[in-house]
Amino acid sequence: MIFPTSMFGITNAVLLSRLVKQPREDAIVIVLAVSFNTLLVQPPGSPAAQCRNPTISALHQSGRLAISRNCRHLPPQEPNMPELPEVETVRRGLQPVMEGARITGVELRRADLRFPFQPDFAARLTGHRAVSLSRRAKFLMADLASGDVLMMHLGMSGSFRIDDAPVGAFHHPRNVERVNDHVVLRLGGGKIITYNDPRRFGSMKIVARTALDDEPLLKGLGPEPLGNAFDAATLARACAGKTASLKAALLDQHVVAGLGNIYAAEALHRARLSPKRRASTLANRSGAPTDRAGELAAAIRAVLTEAIAVGGATLHNCRHPDGKLGYFQHSFEVYNHEGQPCTTPGCDGVVHRFVQNGRTTFWCPKCQR
Ligand SMILES: [Zn+2]
Repeated sequence: MIFPTSMFGITNAVLLSRLVKQPREDAIVIVLAVSFNTLLVQPPGSPAAQCRNPTISALHQSGRLAISRNCRHLPPQEPNMPELPEVETVRRGLQPVMEGARITGVELRRADLRFPFQPDFAARLTGHRAVSLSRRAKFLMADLASGDVLMMHLGMSGSFRIDDAPVGAFHHPRNVERVNDHVVLRLGGGKIITYNDPRRFGSMKIVARTALDDEPLLKGLGPEPLGNAFDAATLARACAGKTASLKAALLDQHVVAGLGNIYAAEALHRARLSPKRRASTLANRSGAPTDRAGELAAAIRAVLTEAIAVGGATLHNCRHPDGKLGYFQHSFEVYNHEGQPCTTPGCDGVVHRFVQNGRTTFWCPKCQR
């Protein structure tokens, strides 16, 4: 369906709200905002253009709506996606239940998440034992005794539940939340793992362990920020010669894997480095790391480690597998702290917010150089 319109107006809001109440799964809804310089349409789900109107925003986020990039009356908002600490927290919650357990049943309630499930998805899981549950960037990797690996990504709104109800007695009332339960894994012993994802930007894919090196979803990922391969030298090497900003470099998955927008901002603040600084300044002329690279690498490790320790940030809709919310968001130093005093000792600056490469950045212009 295409709705050519002059602007996002009352009529459209009413029209779209009807669609939200009765969303058609197969409908691609495109609203063309025909103002003086529009027709540049952002793809659904892209963070650069989001609408303050909750109805339009919900359609955009769910992937059923593209909106104009020049929707200037509506400033960009951040997608509230799970970041690395949340994913690691989810892994630690699922690990004791999944590791060593045989998958006895797989229920797919739809044909796809971000992309379609493989035709043999259920067959390759059913009857096989999970040997371990690890993480690569923001992918959960369930290693199966069969030689396959189940890769799972939470996307923007994915979450798991562990339900102790025995197999067969599990019943979903048709309420809003359960409508978004898309995958159910039954484990030997009766545990049930349910994957819920309202926006469906998450993904699940099975890859042979021997083919992981060639897996496109993992190709080109930089070192794990908490792994042994990540330090000042690797960070400087990856940033050497880059004219991009330091913040953009930290979000580049080739530089470091899985470090998201929130923790990039937090790490830069802790290292007192401006998000606008050129990435190349982390390396000297010979490519060796500067002191700044060492401070930034240490800050990245510290903010992530602390976040994981308190259970991961759960800003809006990412929950622990056991349903409890984390609370690292209370200890963010700059993220969402616009207008508040800088917490750097001895600094009397104020936290500012600006949009950089389509992402919201928070920083203190006084102490971050
Ligand atoms: Zn400051």
